[in-house]
Amino acid sequence: MTKKRKRARDVYTLADLQNWREAKPPIRLGVFGHPVAHSLSPKIQNAALKHHKIDIRYAAFDIAPDQLGEALRLACELKFVGVNLTIPHKIAALEHLDEVDPAARKIGAANVVAIREGKLVGSNTDGAGFGRAIREEFSVDLQDLRVMVLGAGGAACAIAAECALAGCERLVVANRNAEKAMELVEQLRVYFAGPRVLGPVPRLQAIGLDEAALRFQIANVDLIVNATPLGLHPTDASPVPARLLAPHLMIYDTAYALRATAFERAANEAGARSANGLSMLLHQAALSFELWFAREAPLEVMRAALR
Ligand code: NAP
Repeated sequence: MTKKRKRARDVYTLADLQNWREAKPPIRLGVFGHPVAHSLSPKIQNAALKHHKIDIRYAAFDIAPDQLGEALRLACELKFVGVNLTIPHKIAALEHLDEVDPAARKIGAANVVAIREGKLVGSNTDGAGFGRAIREEFSVDLQDLRVMVLGAGGAACAIAAECALAGCERLVVANRNAEKAMELVEQLRVYFAGPRVLGPVPRLQAIGLDEAALRFQIANVDLIVNATPLGLHPTDASPVPARLLAPHLMIYDTAYALRATAFERAANEAGARSANGLSMLLHQAALSFELWFAREAPLEVMRAALR
């Protein structure tokens, strides 16, 4: 098997799926992404599998965007239990799946696929995982918050939909490509049609990622969520500079790291509370495990594996 050793973690490729050779214990679960070498999902899921004495293994697969359809088809042929999808596959995956559950269809993105009777069935655990993470990190519920989401990709769609479904006070989507932010906001408008009034600012708004627009919005939100890939690389700059942040804010960076991300460091500099995506990773992983095996995920075992 052509295995690339990356930071002491095994990363498989489409070529491996095409020329599959059984390992022991057999690999029957995985995460498809590009890049994917940074993923901590194998660590968490393998700890859960071991805890439940399920004799299969979960691995990372570096799958380029134009390889996704074939990789999913091969996973099905090879009788995988399922896969997780990460950047950049969550939205594109929908066209390759046989079934998509109603929540993932509404969100327009899937981060987990279960393979049932030869069918690829997509779901989304990112949104619910995010809601649980915010409660755990900041002891608040989304319904009480004015939220700004940075990004309009797969993760941002799930997070924004979760905020909308929870009835959050206010939602702003800020994206480099403002048209995509607008599209996401239009999909969610139905959830903000109620009579609640919030002073002069609209309850639902799309903006570009420019400093003037961000500065204005930051005075009118409580929670800022980074759902762009800025932060995946240790040398990335903060998606919002510290000079724009303020102490009343909660900052949640979906990028995860064992050390503080650039966004968390900026929050710290501004006196704001912050957390990174480890907690969301944990909760979406636990929900994925429960979808695959219809049994309770060993949350504390999975949390310990992350440490
Ligand atoms: P995606 O679908 O590819 O979307 C990426 C989004 O980020 C797009 O809106 C894109 O804007 C924006 N973007 C990309 N590069 C940018 C840059 N240099 N500056 C500003 N904006 C940029 O990716 P995704 O699946 O949503 O993942 C996004 C992030 O969320 C990743 O870092 C991923 O690791 C993280 N995530 C974490 C968890 C967790 O459990 N912690 C779960 C899911 C996702 P345009 O539309 O303008 O291209």
